[in-house]
Amino acid sequence: MTLYSCSECKQVYPITATRWKCECGGLLNLLQTESNTPYDNWTSQQSIWRYVSSMAGKEYLSGWRSITLGEGQTPLLELNESDPNTLVKLDFMMPTLSFKDRGAAVLVTLAKQLGVNKVIADSSGNAGTAIAAYSAKAGIECDVYVSADTSPNKLAQIKAHGATIKSVKGTREDVATAAQFAVKEEQVFYASHVYNPYFYEGTKTYAFEVYEQLGKAPNTVLIPVGNGTLLLGAYYGFRELLEAKKIEYMPKIIAIQAENCSPIAKAFEGQDFKEKPFVNEGTLAEGIAIASPARSKQIVEAIRETEGTFITVSEDEILEAREILAVKGFYVEITSAVNYAGYMKYANSRDEVIVIPLCGAGIKSPT
Ligand SMILES: *Cc1c(COP(=O)(O)O)cnc(C)c1O
Ligand SMILES: [Zn+2]
Repeated sequence: MTLYSCSECKQVYPITATRWKCECGGLLNLLQTESNTPYDNWTSQQSIWRYVSSMAGKEYLSGWRSITLGEGQTPLLELNESDPNTLVKLDFMMPTLSFKDRGAAVLVTLAKQLGVNKVIADSSGNAGTAIAAYSAKAGIECDVYVSADTSPNKLAQIKAHGATIKSVKGTREDVATAAQFAVKEEQVFYASHVYNPYFYEGTKTYAFEVYEQLGKAPNTVLIPVGNGTLLLGAYYGFRELLEAKKIEYMPKIIAIQAENCSPIAKAFEGQDFKEKPFVNEGTLAEGIAIASPARSKQIVEAIRETEGTFITVSEDEILEAREILAVKGFYVEITSAVNYAGYMKYANSRDEVIVIPLCGAGIKSPT
């Protein structure tokens, strides 16, 4: 049996359609009463569902076949022929063109199994697109709350899936507040990539794939951070592989943020935002422009535990990185170029195996 359990006060709740945080306000994790997940009887599915036996709470995921769009098992390639240890993972090759499909497929499978007929999501674009696509496949009505300045290409994608766009003037945090208000008013499922722990059962497949493709753990993974859904997923995935003795060491997690919106980098350096909230100064990397990430404490802990660190990059460095990648043949959205910009500032050693996600497709950006 699986329950939601509060990360703060440890209160437990059954998994129901309308529960998304604790009465105390704390974030929910998944708590399984029986021990999880053999890490050796994975199936031959060419998607994230190969790993369903290693997902927590899988008794709510048995209907995945009617929801999947073929997400996952993305290529892992050398970036330059001269350097076999620097690898890029092409998560822009996903059904909705970003890594968010890993989590969205799992979250919508849960929603379908709970019998919901409507979900609400809020997003800077890609999470909303992914939730909209899988909801369309599931026959579930979907409202996506976005900020008024979201890239028109992402909005077009969301609309094409038949979702309703609710445009909110204000910060990313205002968008989330509006969505949470509507969730309460309408008593519907909150398909939140930030709050719902099932999303991380999906993003954790990133680590499983890297492990299988390399036949071992990489030394280092670079991960972009907005709300930390890829970072935490990768962290959980590698940690579980380590506990299952499939890998021998934990990869170092190097987190990348845009200089103009780097609250977690600042928190990592010891700044406290309780008194005075962090202000986003504006970045072209819209997918990671998150001024107050709900899971920041967990993110900082994960980076510390892996002996990782933070790198921040300027707007010019991001745009330059995007151009360099495109000239190599990889057309990524501006947000996704942040990862390569971070790599260019990272002093890796020659024999360090490092994985960089290219996790959003270029046509998603306005230019
Ligand atoms: C969502 C997203 C990010 C940031 O992910 P978080 O989960 O918010 O940390 C980075 N790149 C792309 C392309 C994204 O879609
Ligand atoms: Zn609580």
